[in-house]
Amino acid sequence: MEKRDLLRNLPAVEEVLKQVNIKDDSYTKSMKTEAVRESLDYFRNMILDSSDGNLEKIKIDNDEITIKVREILEKKYSLSLEKVINGTGTILHTNLGRSLLSESIKDEVWKIASGYSNLEYDLEKGKRGSRYIHVTKMIKLLFNVEDVLVVNNNAAAVLLVLSTFAKNKEAIVSRGELVEVGGAFRIPSVMSMSGAKLVEVGSTNKTRIEDYEEAITEETKLLMKVHTSNYKLIGFTENVPNNELNVLGKKYNIPVVEDLGSGVYFDLEKFGLKHEPTIAESIKSGIDIITFSGDKLLGGPQAGIIVGKKEYIDEMKKNQLLRALRVDKITLAALEATLKLYFDEEKAKDNIPTIRMLSYSIEELETRIKILLNKISNKNLDIEISIENEFSTIGGGSMPGEVIPSKVLVISTNKLSVSKLEEKLRLSKSHIIGRIKEDRYMLDIRTIQDDEFDIIANELESLFK
Ligand SMILES: *Cc1c(COP(=O)(O)O)cnc(C)c1O
Repeated sequence: MEKRDLLRNLPAVEEVLKQVNIKDDSYTKSMKTEAVRESLDYFRNMILDSSDGNLEKIKIDNDEITIKVREILEKKYSLSLEKVINGTGTILHTNLGRSLLSESIKDEVWKIASGYSNLEYDLEKGKRGSRYIHVTKMIKLLFNVEDVLVVNNNAAAVLLVLSTFAKNKEAIVSRGELVEVGGAFRIPSVMSMSGAKLVEVGSTNKTRIEDYEEAITEETKLLMKVHTSNYKLIGFTENVPNNELNVLGKKYNIPVVEDLGSGVYFDLEKFGLKHEPTIAESIKSGIDIITFSGDKLLGGPQAGIIVGKKEYIDEMKKNQLLRALRVDKITLAALEATLKLYFDEEKAKDNIPTIRMLSYSIEELETRIKILLNKISNKNLDIEISIENEFSTIGGGSMPGEVIPSKVLVISTNKLSVSKLEEKLRLSKSHIIGRIKEDRYMLDIRTIQDDEFDIIANELESLFK
């Protein structure tokens, strides 16, 4: 057949719509019509672009067209935000969504998300209430604090503190604590955005209490400590403990704030990790205001939690900026329900995915990886696969340099290079994200969830059978 005939034989849009089988209710008539038009364009271009010698190979029938139409519909209307499988071994992977919420809180969260609630309504009084009281109750029960305020994230929390107390005034920070967290958040930039003037004291590796005291002027309205959670200063270092800074703050009547970063509830030494200051320890040190993230080691939704003295929290509640940093009801519902899990420490460990992944023993990882390997091996696939010892990281700017022994599946195939294999799994329906180390592809069992074992085995089967 000649090009001309092939083109003439292409069906009309209306005809295709009648004949092809796209009885999928998730697409409207106009979506389907548009997709049919695009698929016919695709075949038309295919004919036009092919050389005369290749024309007889072109086969265009209803089945071919249906497949193309479906492909176009699926691609065009798929949701952009998709689930992926994290095989990287980085627990708090900010690019992959950081913390995973506990399965056990989903009913509570959905109830609030999908229905009316007392978000800003005082049920006792039958009048307007405050959205900020809900989490306050839980945090007060867990920690001994005077008051609480929750905002969009920890960056917002720091911004609110600085704007409330040190706008057009001075805030003193140690040079060793002028950190950048995850690219977008730099303490000096947040300070300038808040209108606070940054007064740097000490040196990168050593700052003493006298350095702070010498820098205090009439304009000083805040003493700030930043937990350098994403880098380590080792060797000849010295920084000022909270209690010394508190004494100084009291002497000059200046509030002291600590940006704790990760905000961990458990003493991580319990899990064989290096000690990280816990929320409770920081509160106990008597510091006036503490801020931390909801979705780092706390394992909740993205949020910035501010705890501290009531007089200071009250001042922040009056700041107009709070309106722009306002936390959503879904976040509040998820945060409150996550915090409630902490009343039973064993329950928290089992039910909060971040804590569970952090606390797996090497024996548990070994058992789990063998189950996964078995499921894959049973499929008799055209790949090489073995279990090896490796290391996971915490991520999310938490605990730099701290790695945890883990188990990985090293996967290879003589058909694909390591980078092609990585790409194939990443772009597969299940979006399996692995790690390449020393030109080897690996999946770390620590960050893979139990209900993902079958998905991985089936995906590998569809790709390598
Ligand atoms: C992570 C981090 C932040 C930013 O917190 P987000 O919740 O991501 O906004 C701020 N300060 C420190 C010290 C951090 O570690």
